[in-house]
Order: sequence, then structure tokens, then C-alpha cells
Amino acid sequence: MRLEAVTLDAVGTLFAVAEPVGRTYARFAARHGITLAPARAERDFGEALVAAPSLAFPGVGRARLAERERAWWHAVVRRAFGPAAERPSFETCFAELFAHYGRREAWRVFPEVAEALRLLRTQGLKLAVVSNFDGRLPPLLAALGLRPLLDLVLHSTAAAAAKPDPAIFRSASSALGVAPAATVHAGDGLVADVEGARRAGLRAILVDRRDQRPRLPAGVSRITTLSELPALVFGLD
Ligand SMILES: [Mg+2]
Repeated sequence: MRLEAVTLDAVGTLFAVAEPVGRTYARFAARHGITLAPARAERDFGEALVAAPSLAFPGVGRARLAERERAWWHAVVRRAFGPAAERPSFETCFAELFAHYGRREAWRVFPEVAEALRLLRTQGLKLAVVSNFDGRLPPLLAALGLRPLLDLVLHSTAAAAAKPDPAIFRSASSALGVAPAATVHAGDGLVADVEGARRAGLRAILVDRRDQRPRLPAGVSRITTLSELPALVFGLD
């Protein structure tokens, strides 16, 4: 089947944090008289993310979504702060961090991304971002200058399903008006992106920026930057 759409993961694929999370947390905490060890905060943040429930709230109406998203992040950041989260100033600090990660200063778009997306678009492909993220994602992509290159932005809380749940990929295909089999998804997560997309009937490409070369299922390609994406996608066709 002819390829008609490319869906892309966001964090680790299009952009990354501008500074390690532990360092940012420690910097913000210090303004509020809280001492955090960056390396430890980084490790505990990673553990909190792994342990967190999926970032989707099926059955929760639009009006209450923002509150649930914030509570989800509050639990993650709280765990990363450890005992320091008991300090009264933690709440202000959390509010500042939550706002920070909704702004472009917190992120760095990989240098080849815009050009790769432009090339794909000039070939008539539809482009979407499919990301385990919250309502801050659409304005963030706009602030990072990527929104005009995309036909659709679908974050997990809006889809009421988080990757690797195939439902979010199916929602994206359906919103694009393209069959899953005519869509390829590129992302840096072996489970969230590669497995999830394949379970939904999409083709998958692993974005292996650290060149870790994991074992991949047959038919899954691997690239190390998005510069390789247009040629690969046109070759798949
Ligand atoms: Mg990712």
C-alpha cells in the first residue's frame, strides 16, 4: 500500500529537554531555598516516569482534563523531589516547573527536524505528531516553530489513550483520513513507538539517536537522525 502519512513521536524524536531534568529541578528548587542533588533528582525523575500510570484519562471530560494532567505531573515531580517535596515552597516550585516545560526555552529542537518535515511534506505526505503528552503540547509545538509543518497534533490525554495503546495510533490515522497500513510512525521508544504502532497496523521506524542498535522485529527500520527519514520513507513506498 502506498504511504500517505508519517506520524512522529515528540520527545526524543523531534526535540529534547534543553538541560537535564535533574539540573533544571535543582535550579528551580534553589530559588525556593530547597537543595536538590541534580543527579539524584534525575534518577528519581526517571524512576517516577517509569512507575507512573499512563498519561491518559479515559472517561474524564474536557473540562477536568487540565486538572488531571497537572495532578499526574505533580505526583511525578513530587517523587523526583523526594523528602524535599514536604517543604511548603514545593507547591510554588512545582507550579513554576510545570509552566517552564510548556515554554520553548525548556526544549531544543534537533537541528535536522524542520528540514526533514518540509521534505516529507513537499512529497505530499501528511504529517502528525503522536505523543504521550498533555495539553501543553499543541502550543509548545507552535512556539517551537513546528506546528505549521504538521497536519495534526495528537497528545495522549486528548486521545484518552497513551502509546503503546494502539488506540492512539488508530485515532491519528482516522483523523488524518489515512489507513493505518498507509502510515509509518517514527519514534525513539521501542515499546511505545515501534511496538504500539505495529499493533495498530502502522509501519514503524526506530529513531535510535544514541546509536544503540537494539534488536528490531523484521520489517522495522532504524535511523539515527530524521535526516535519514525522507529517503527511507520514499524507499518504503
Ligand atoms: Mg520519545
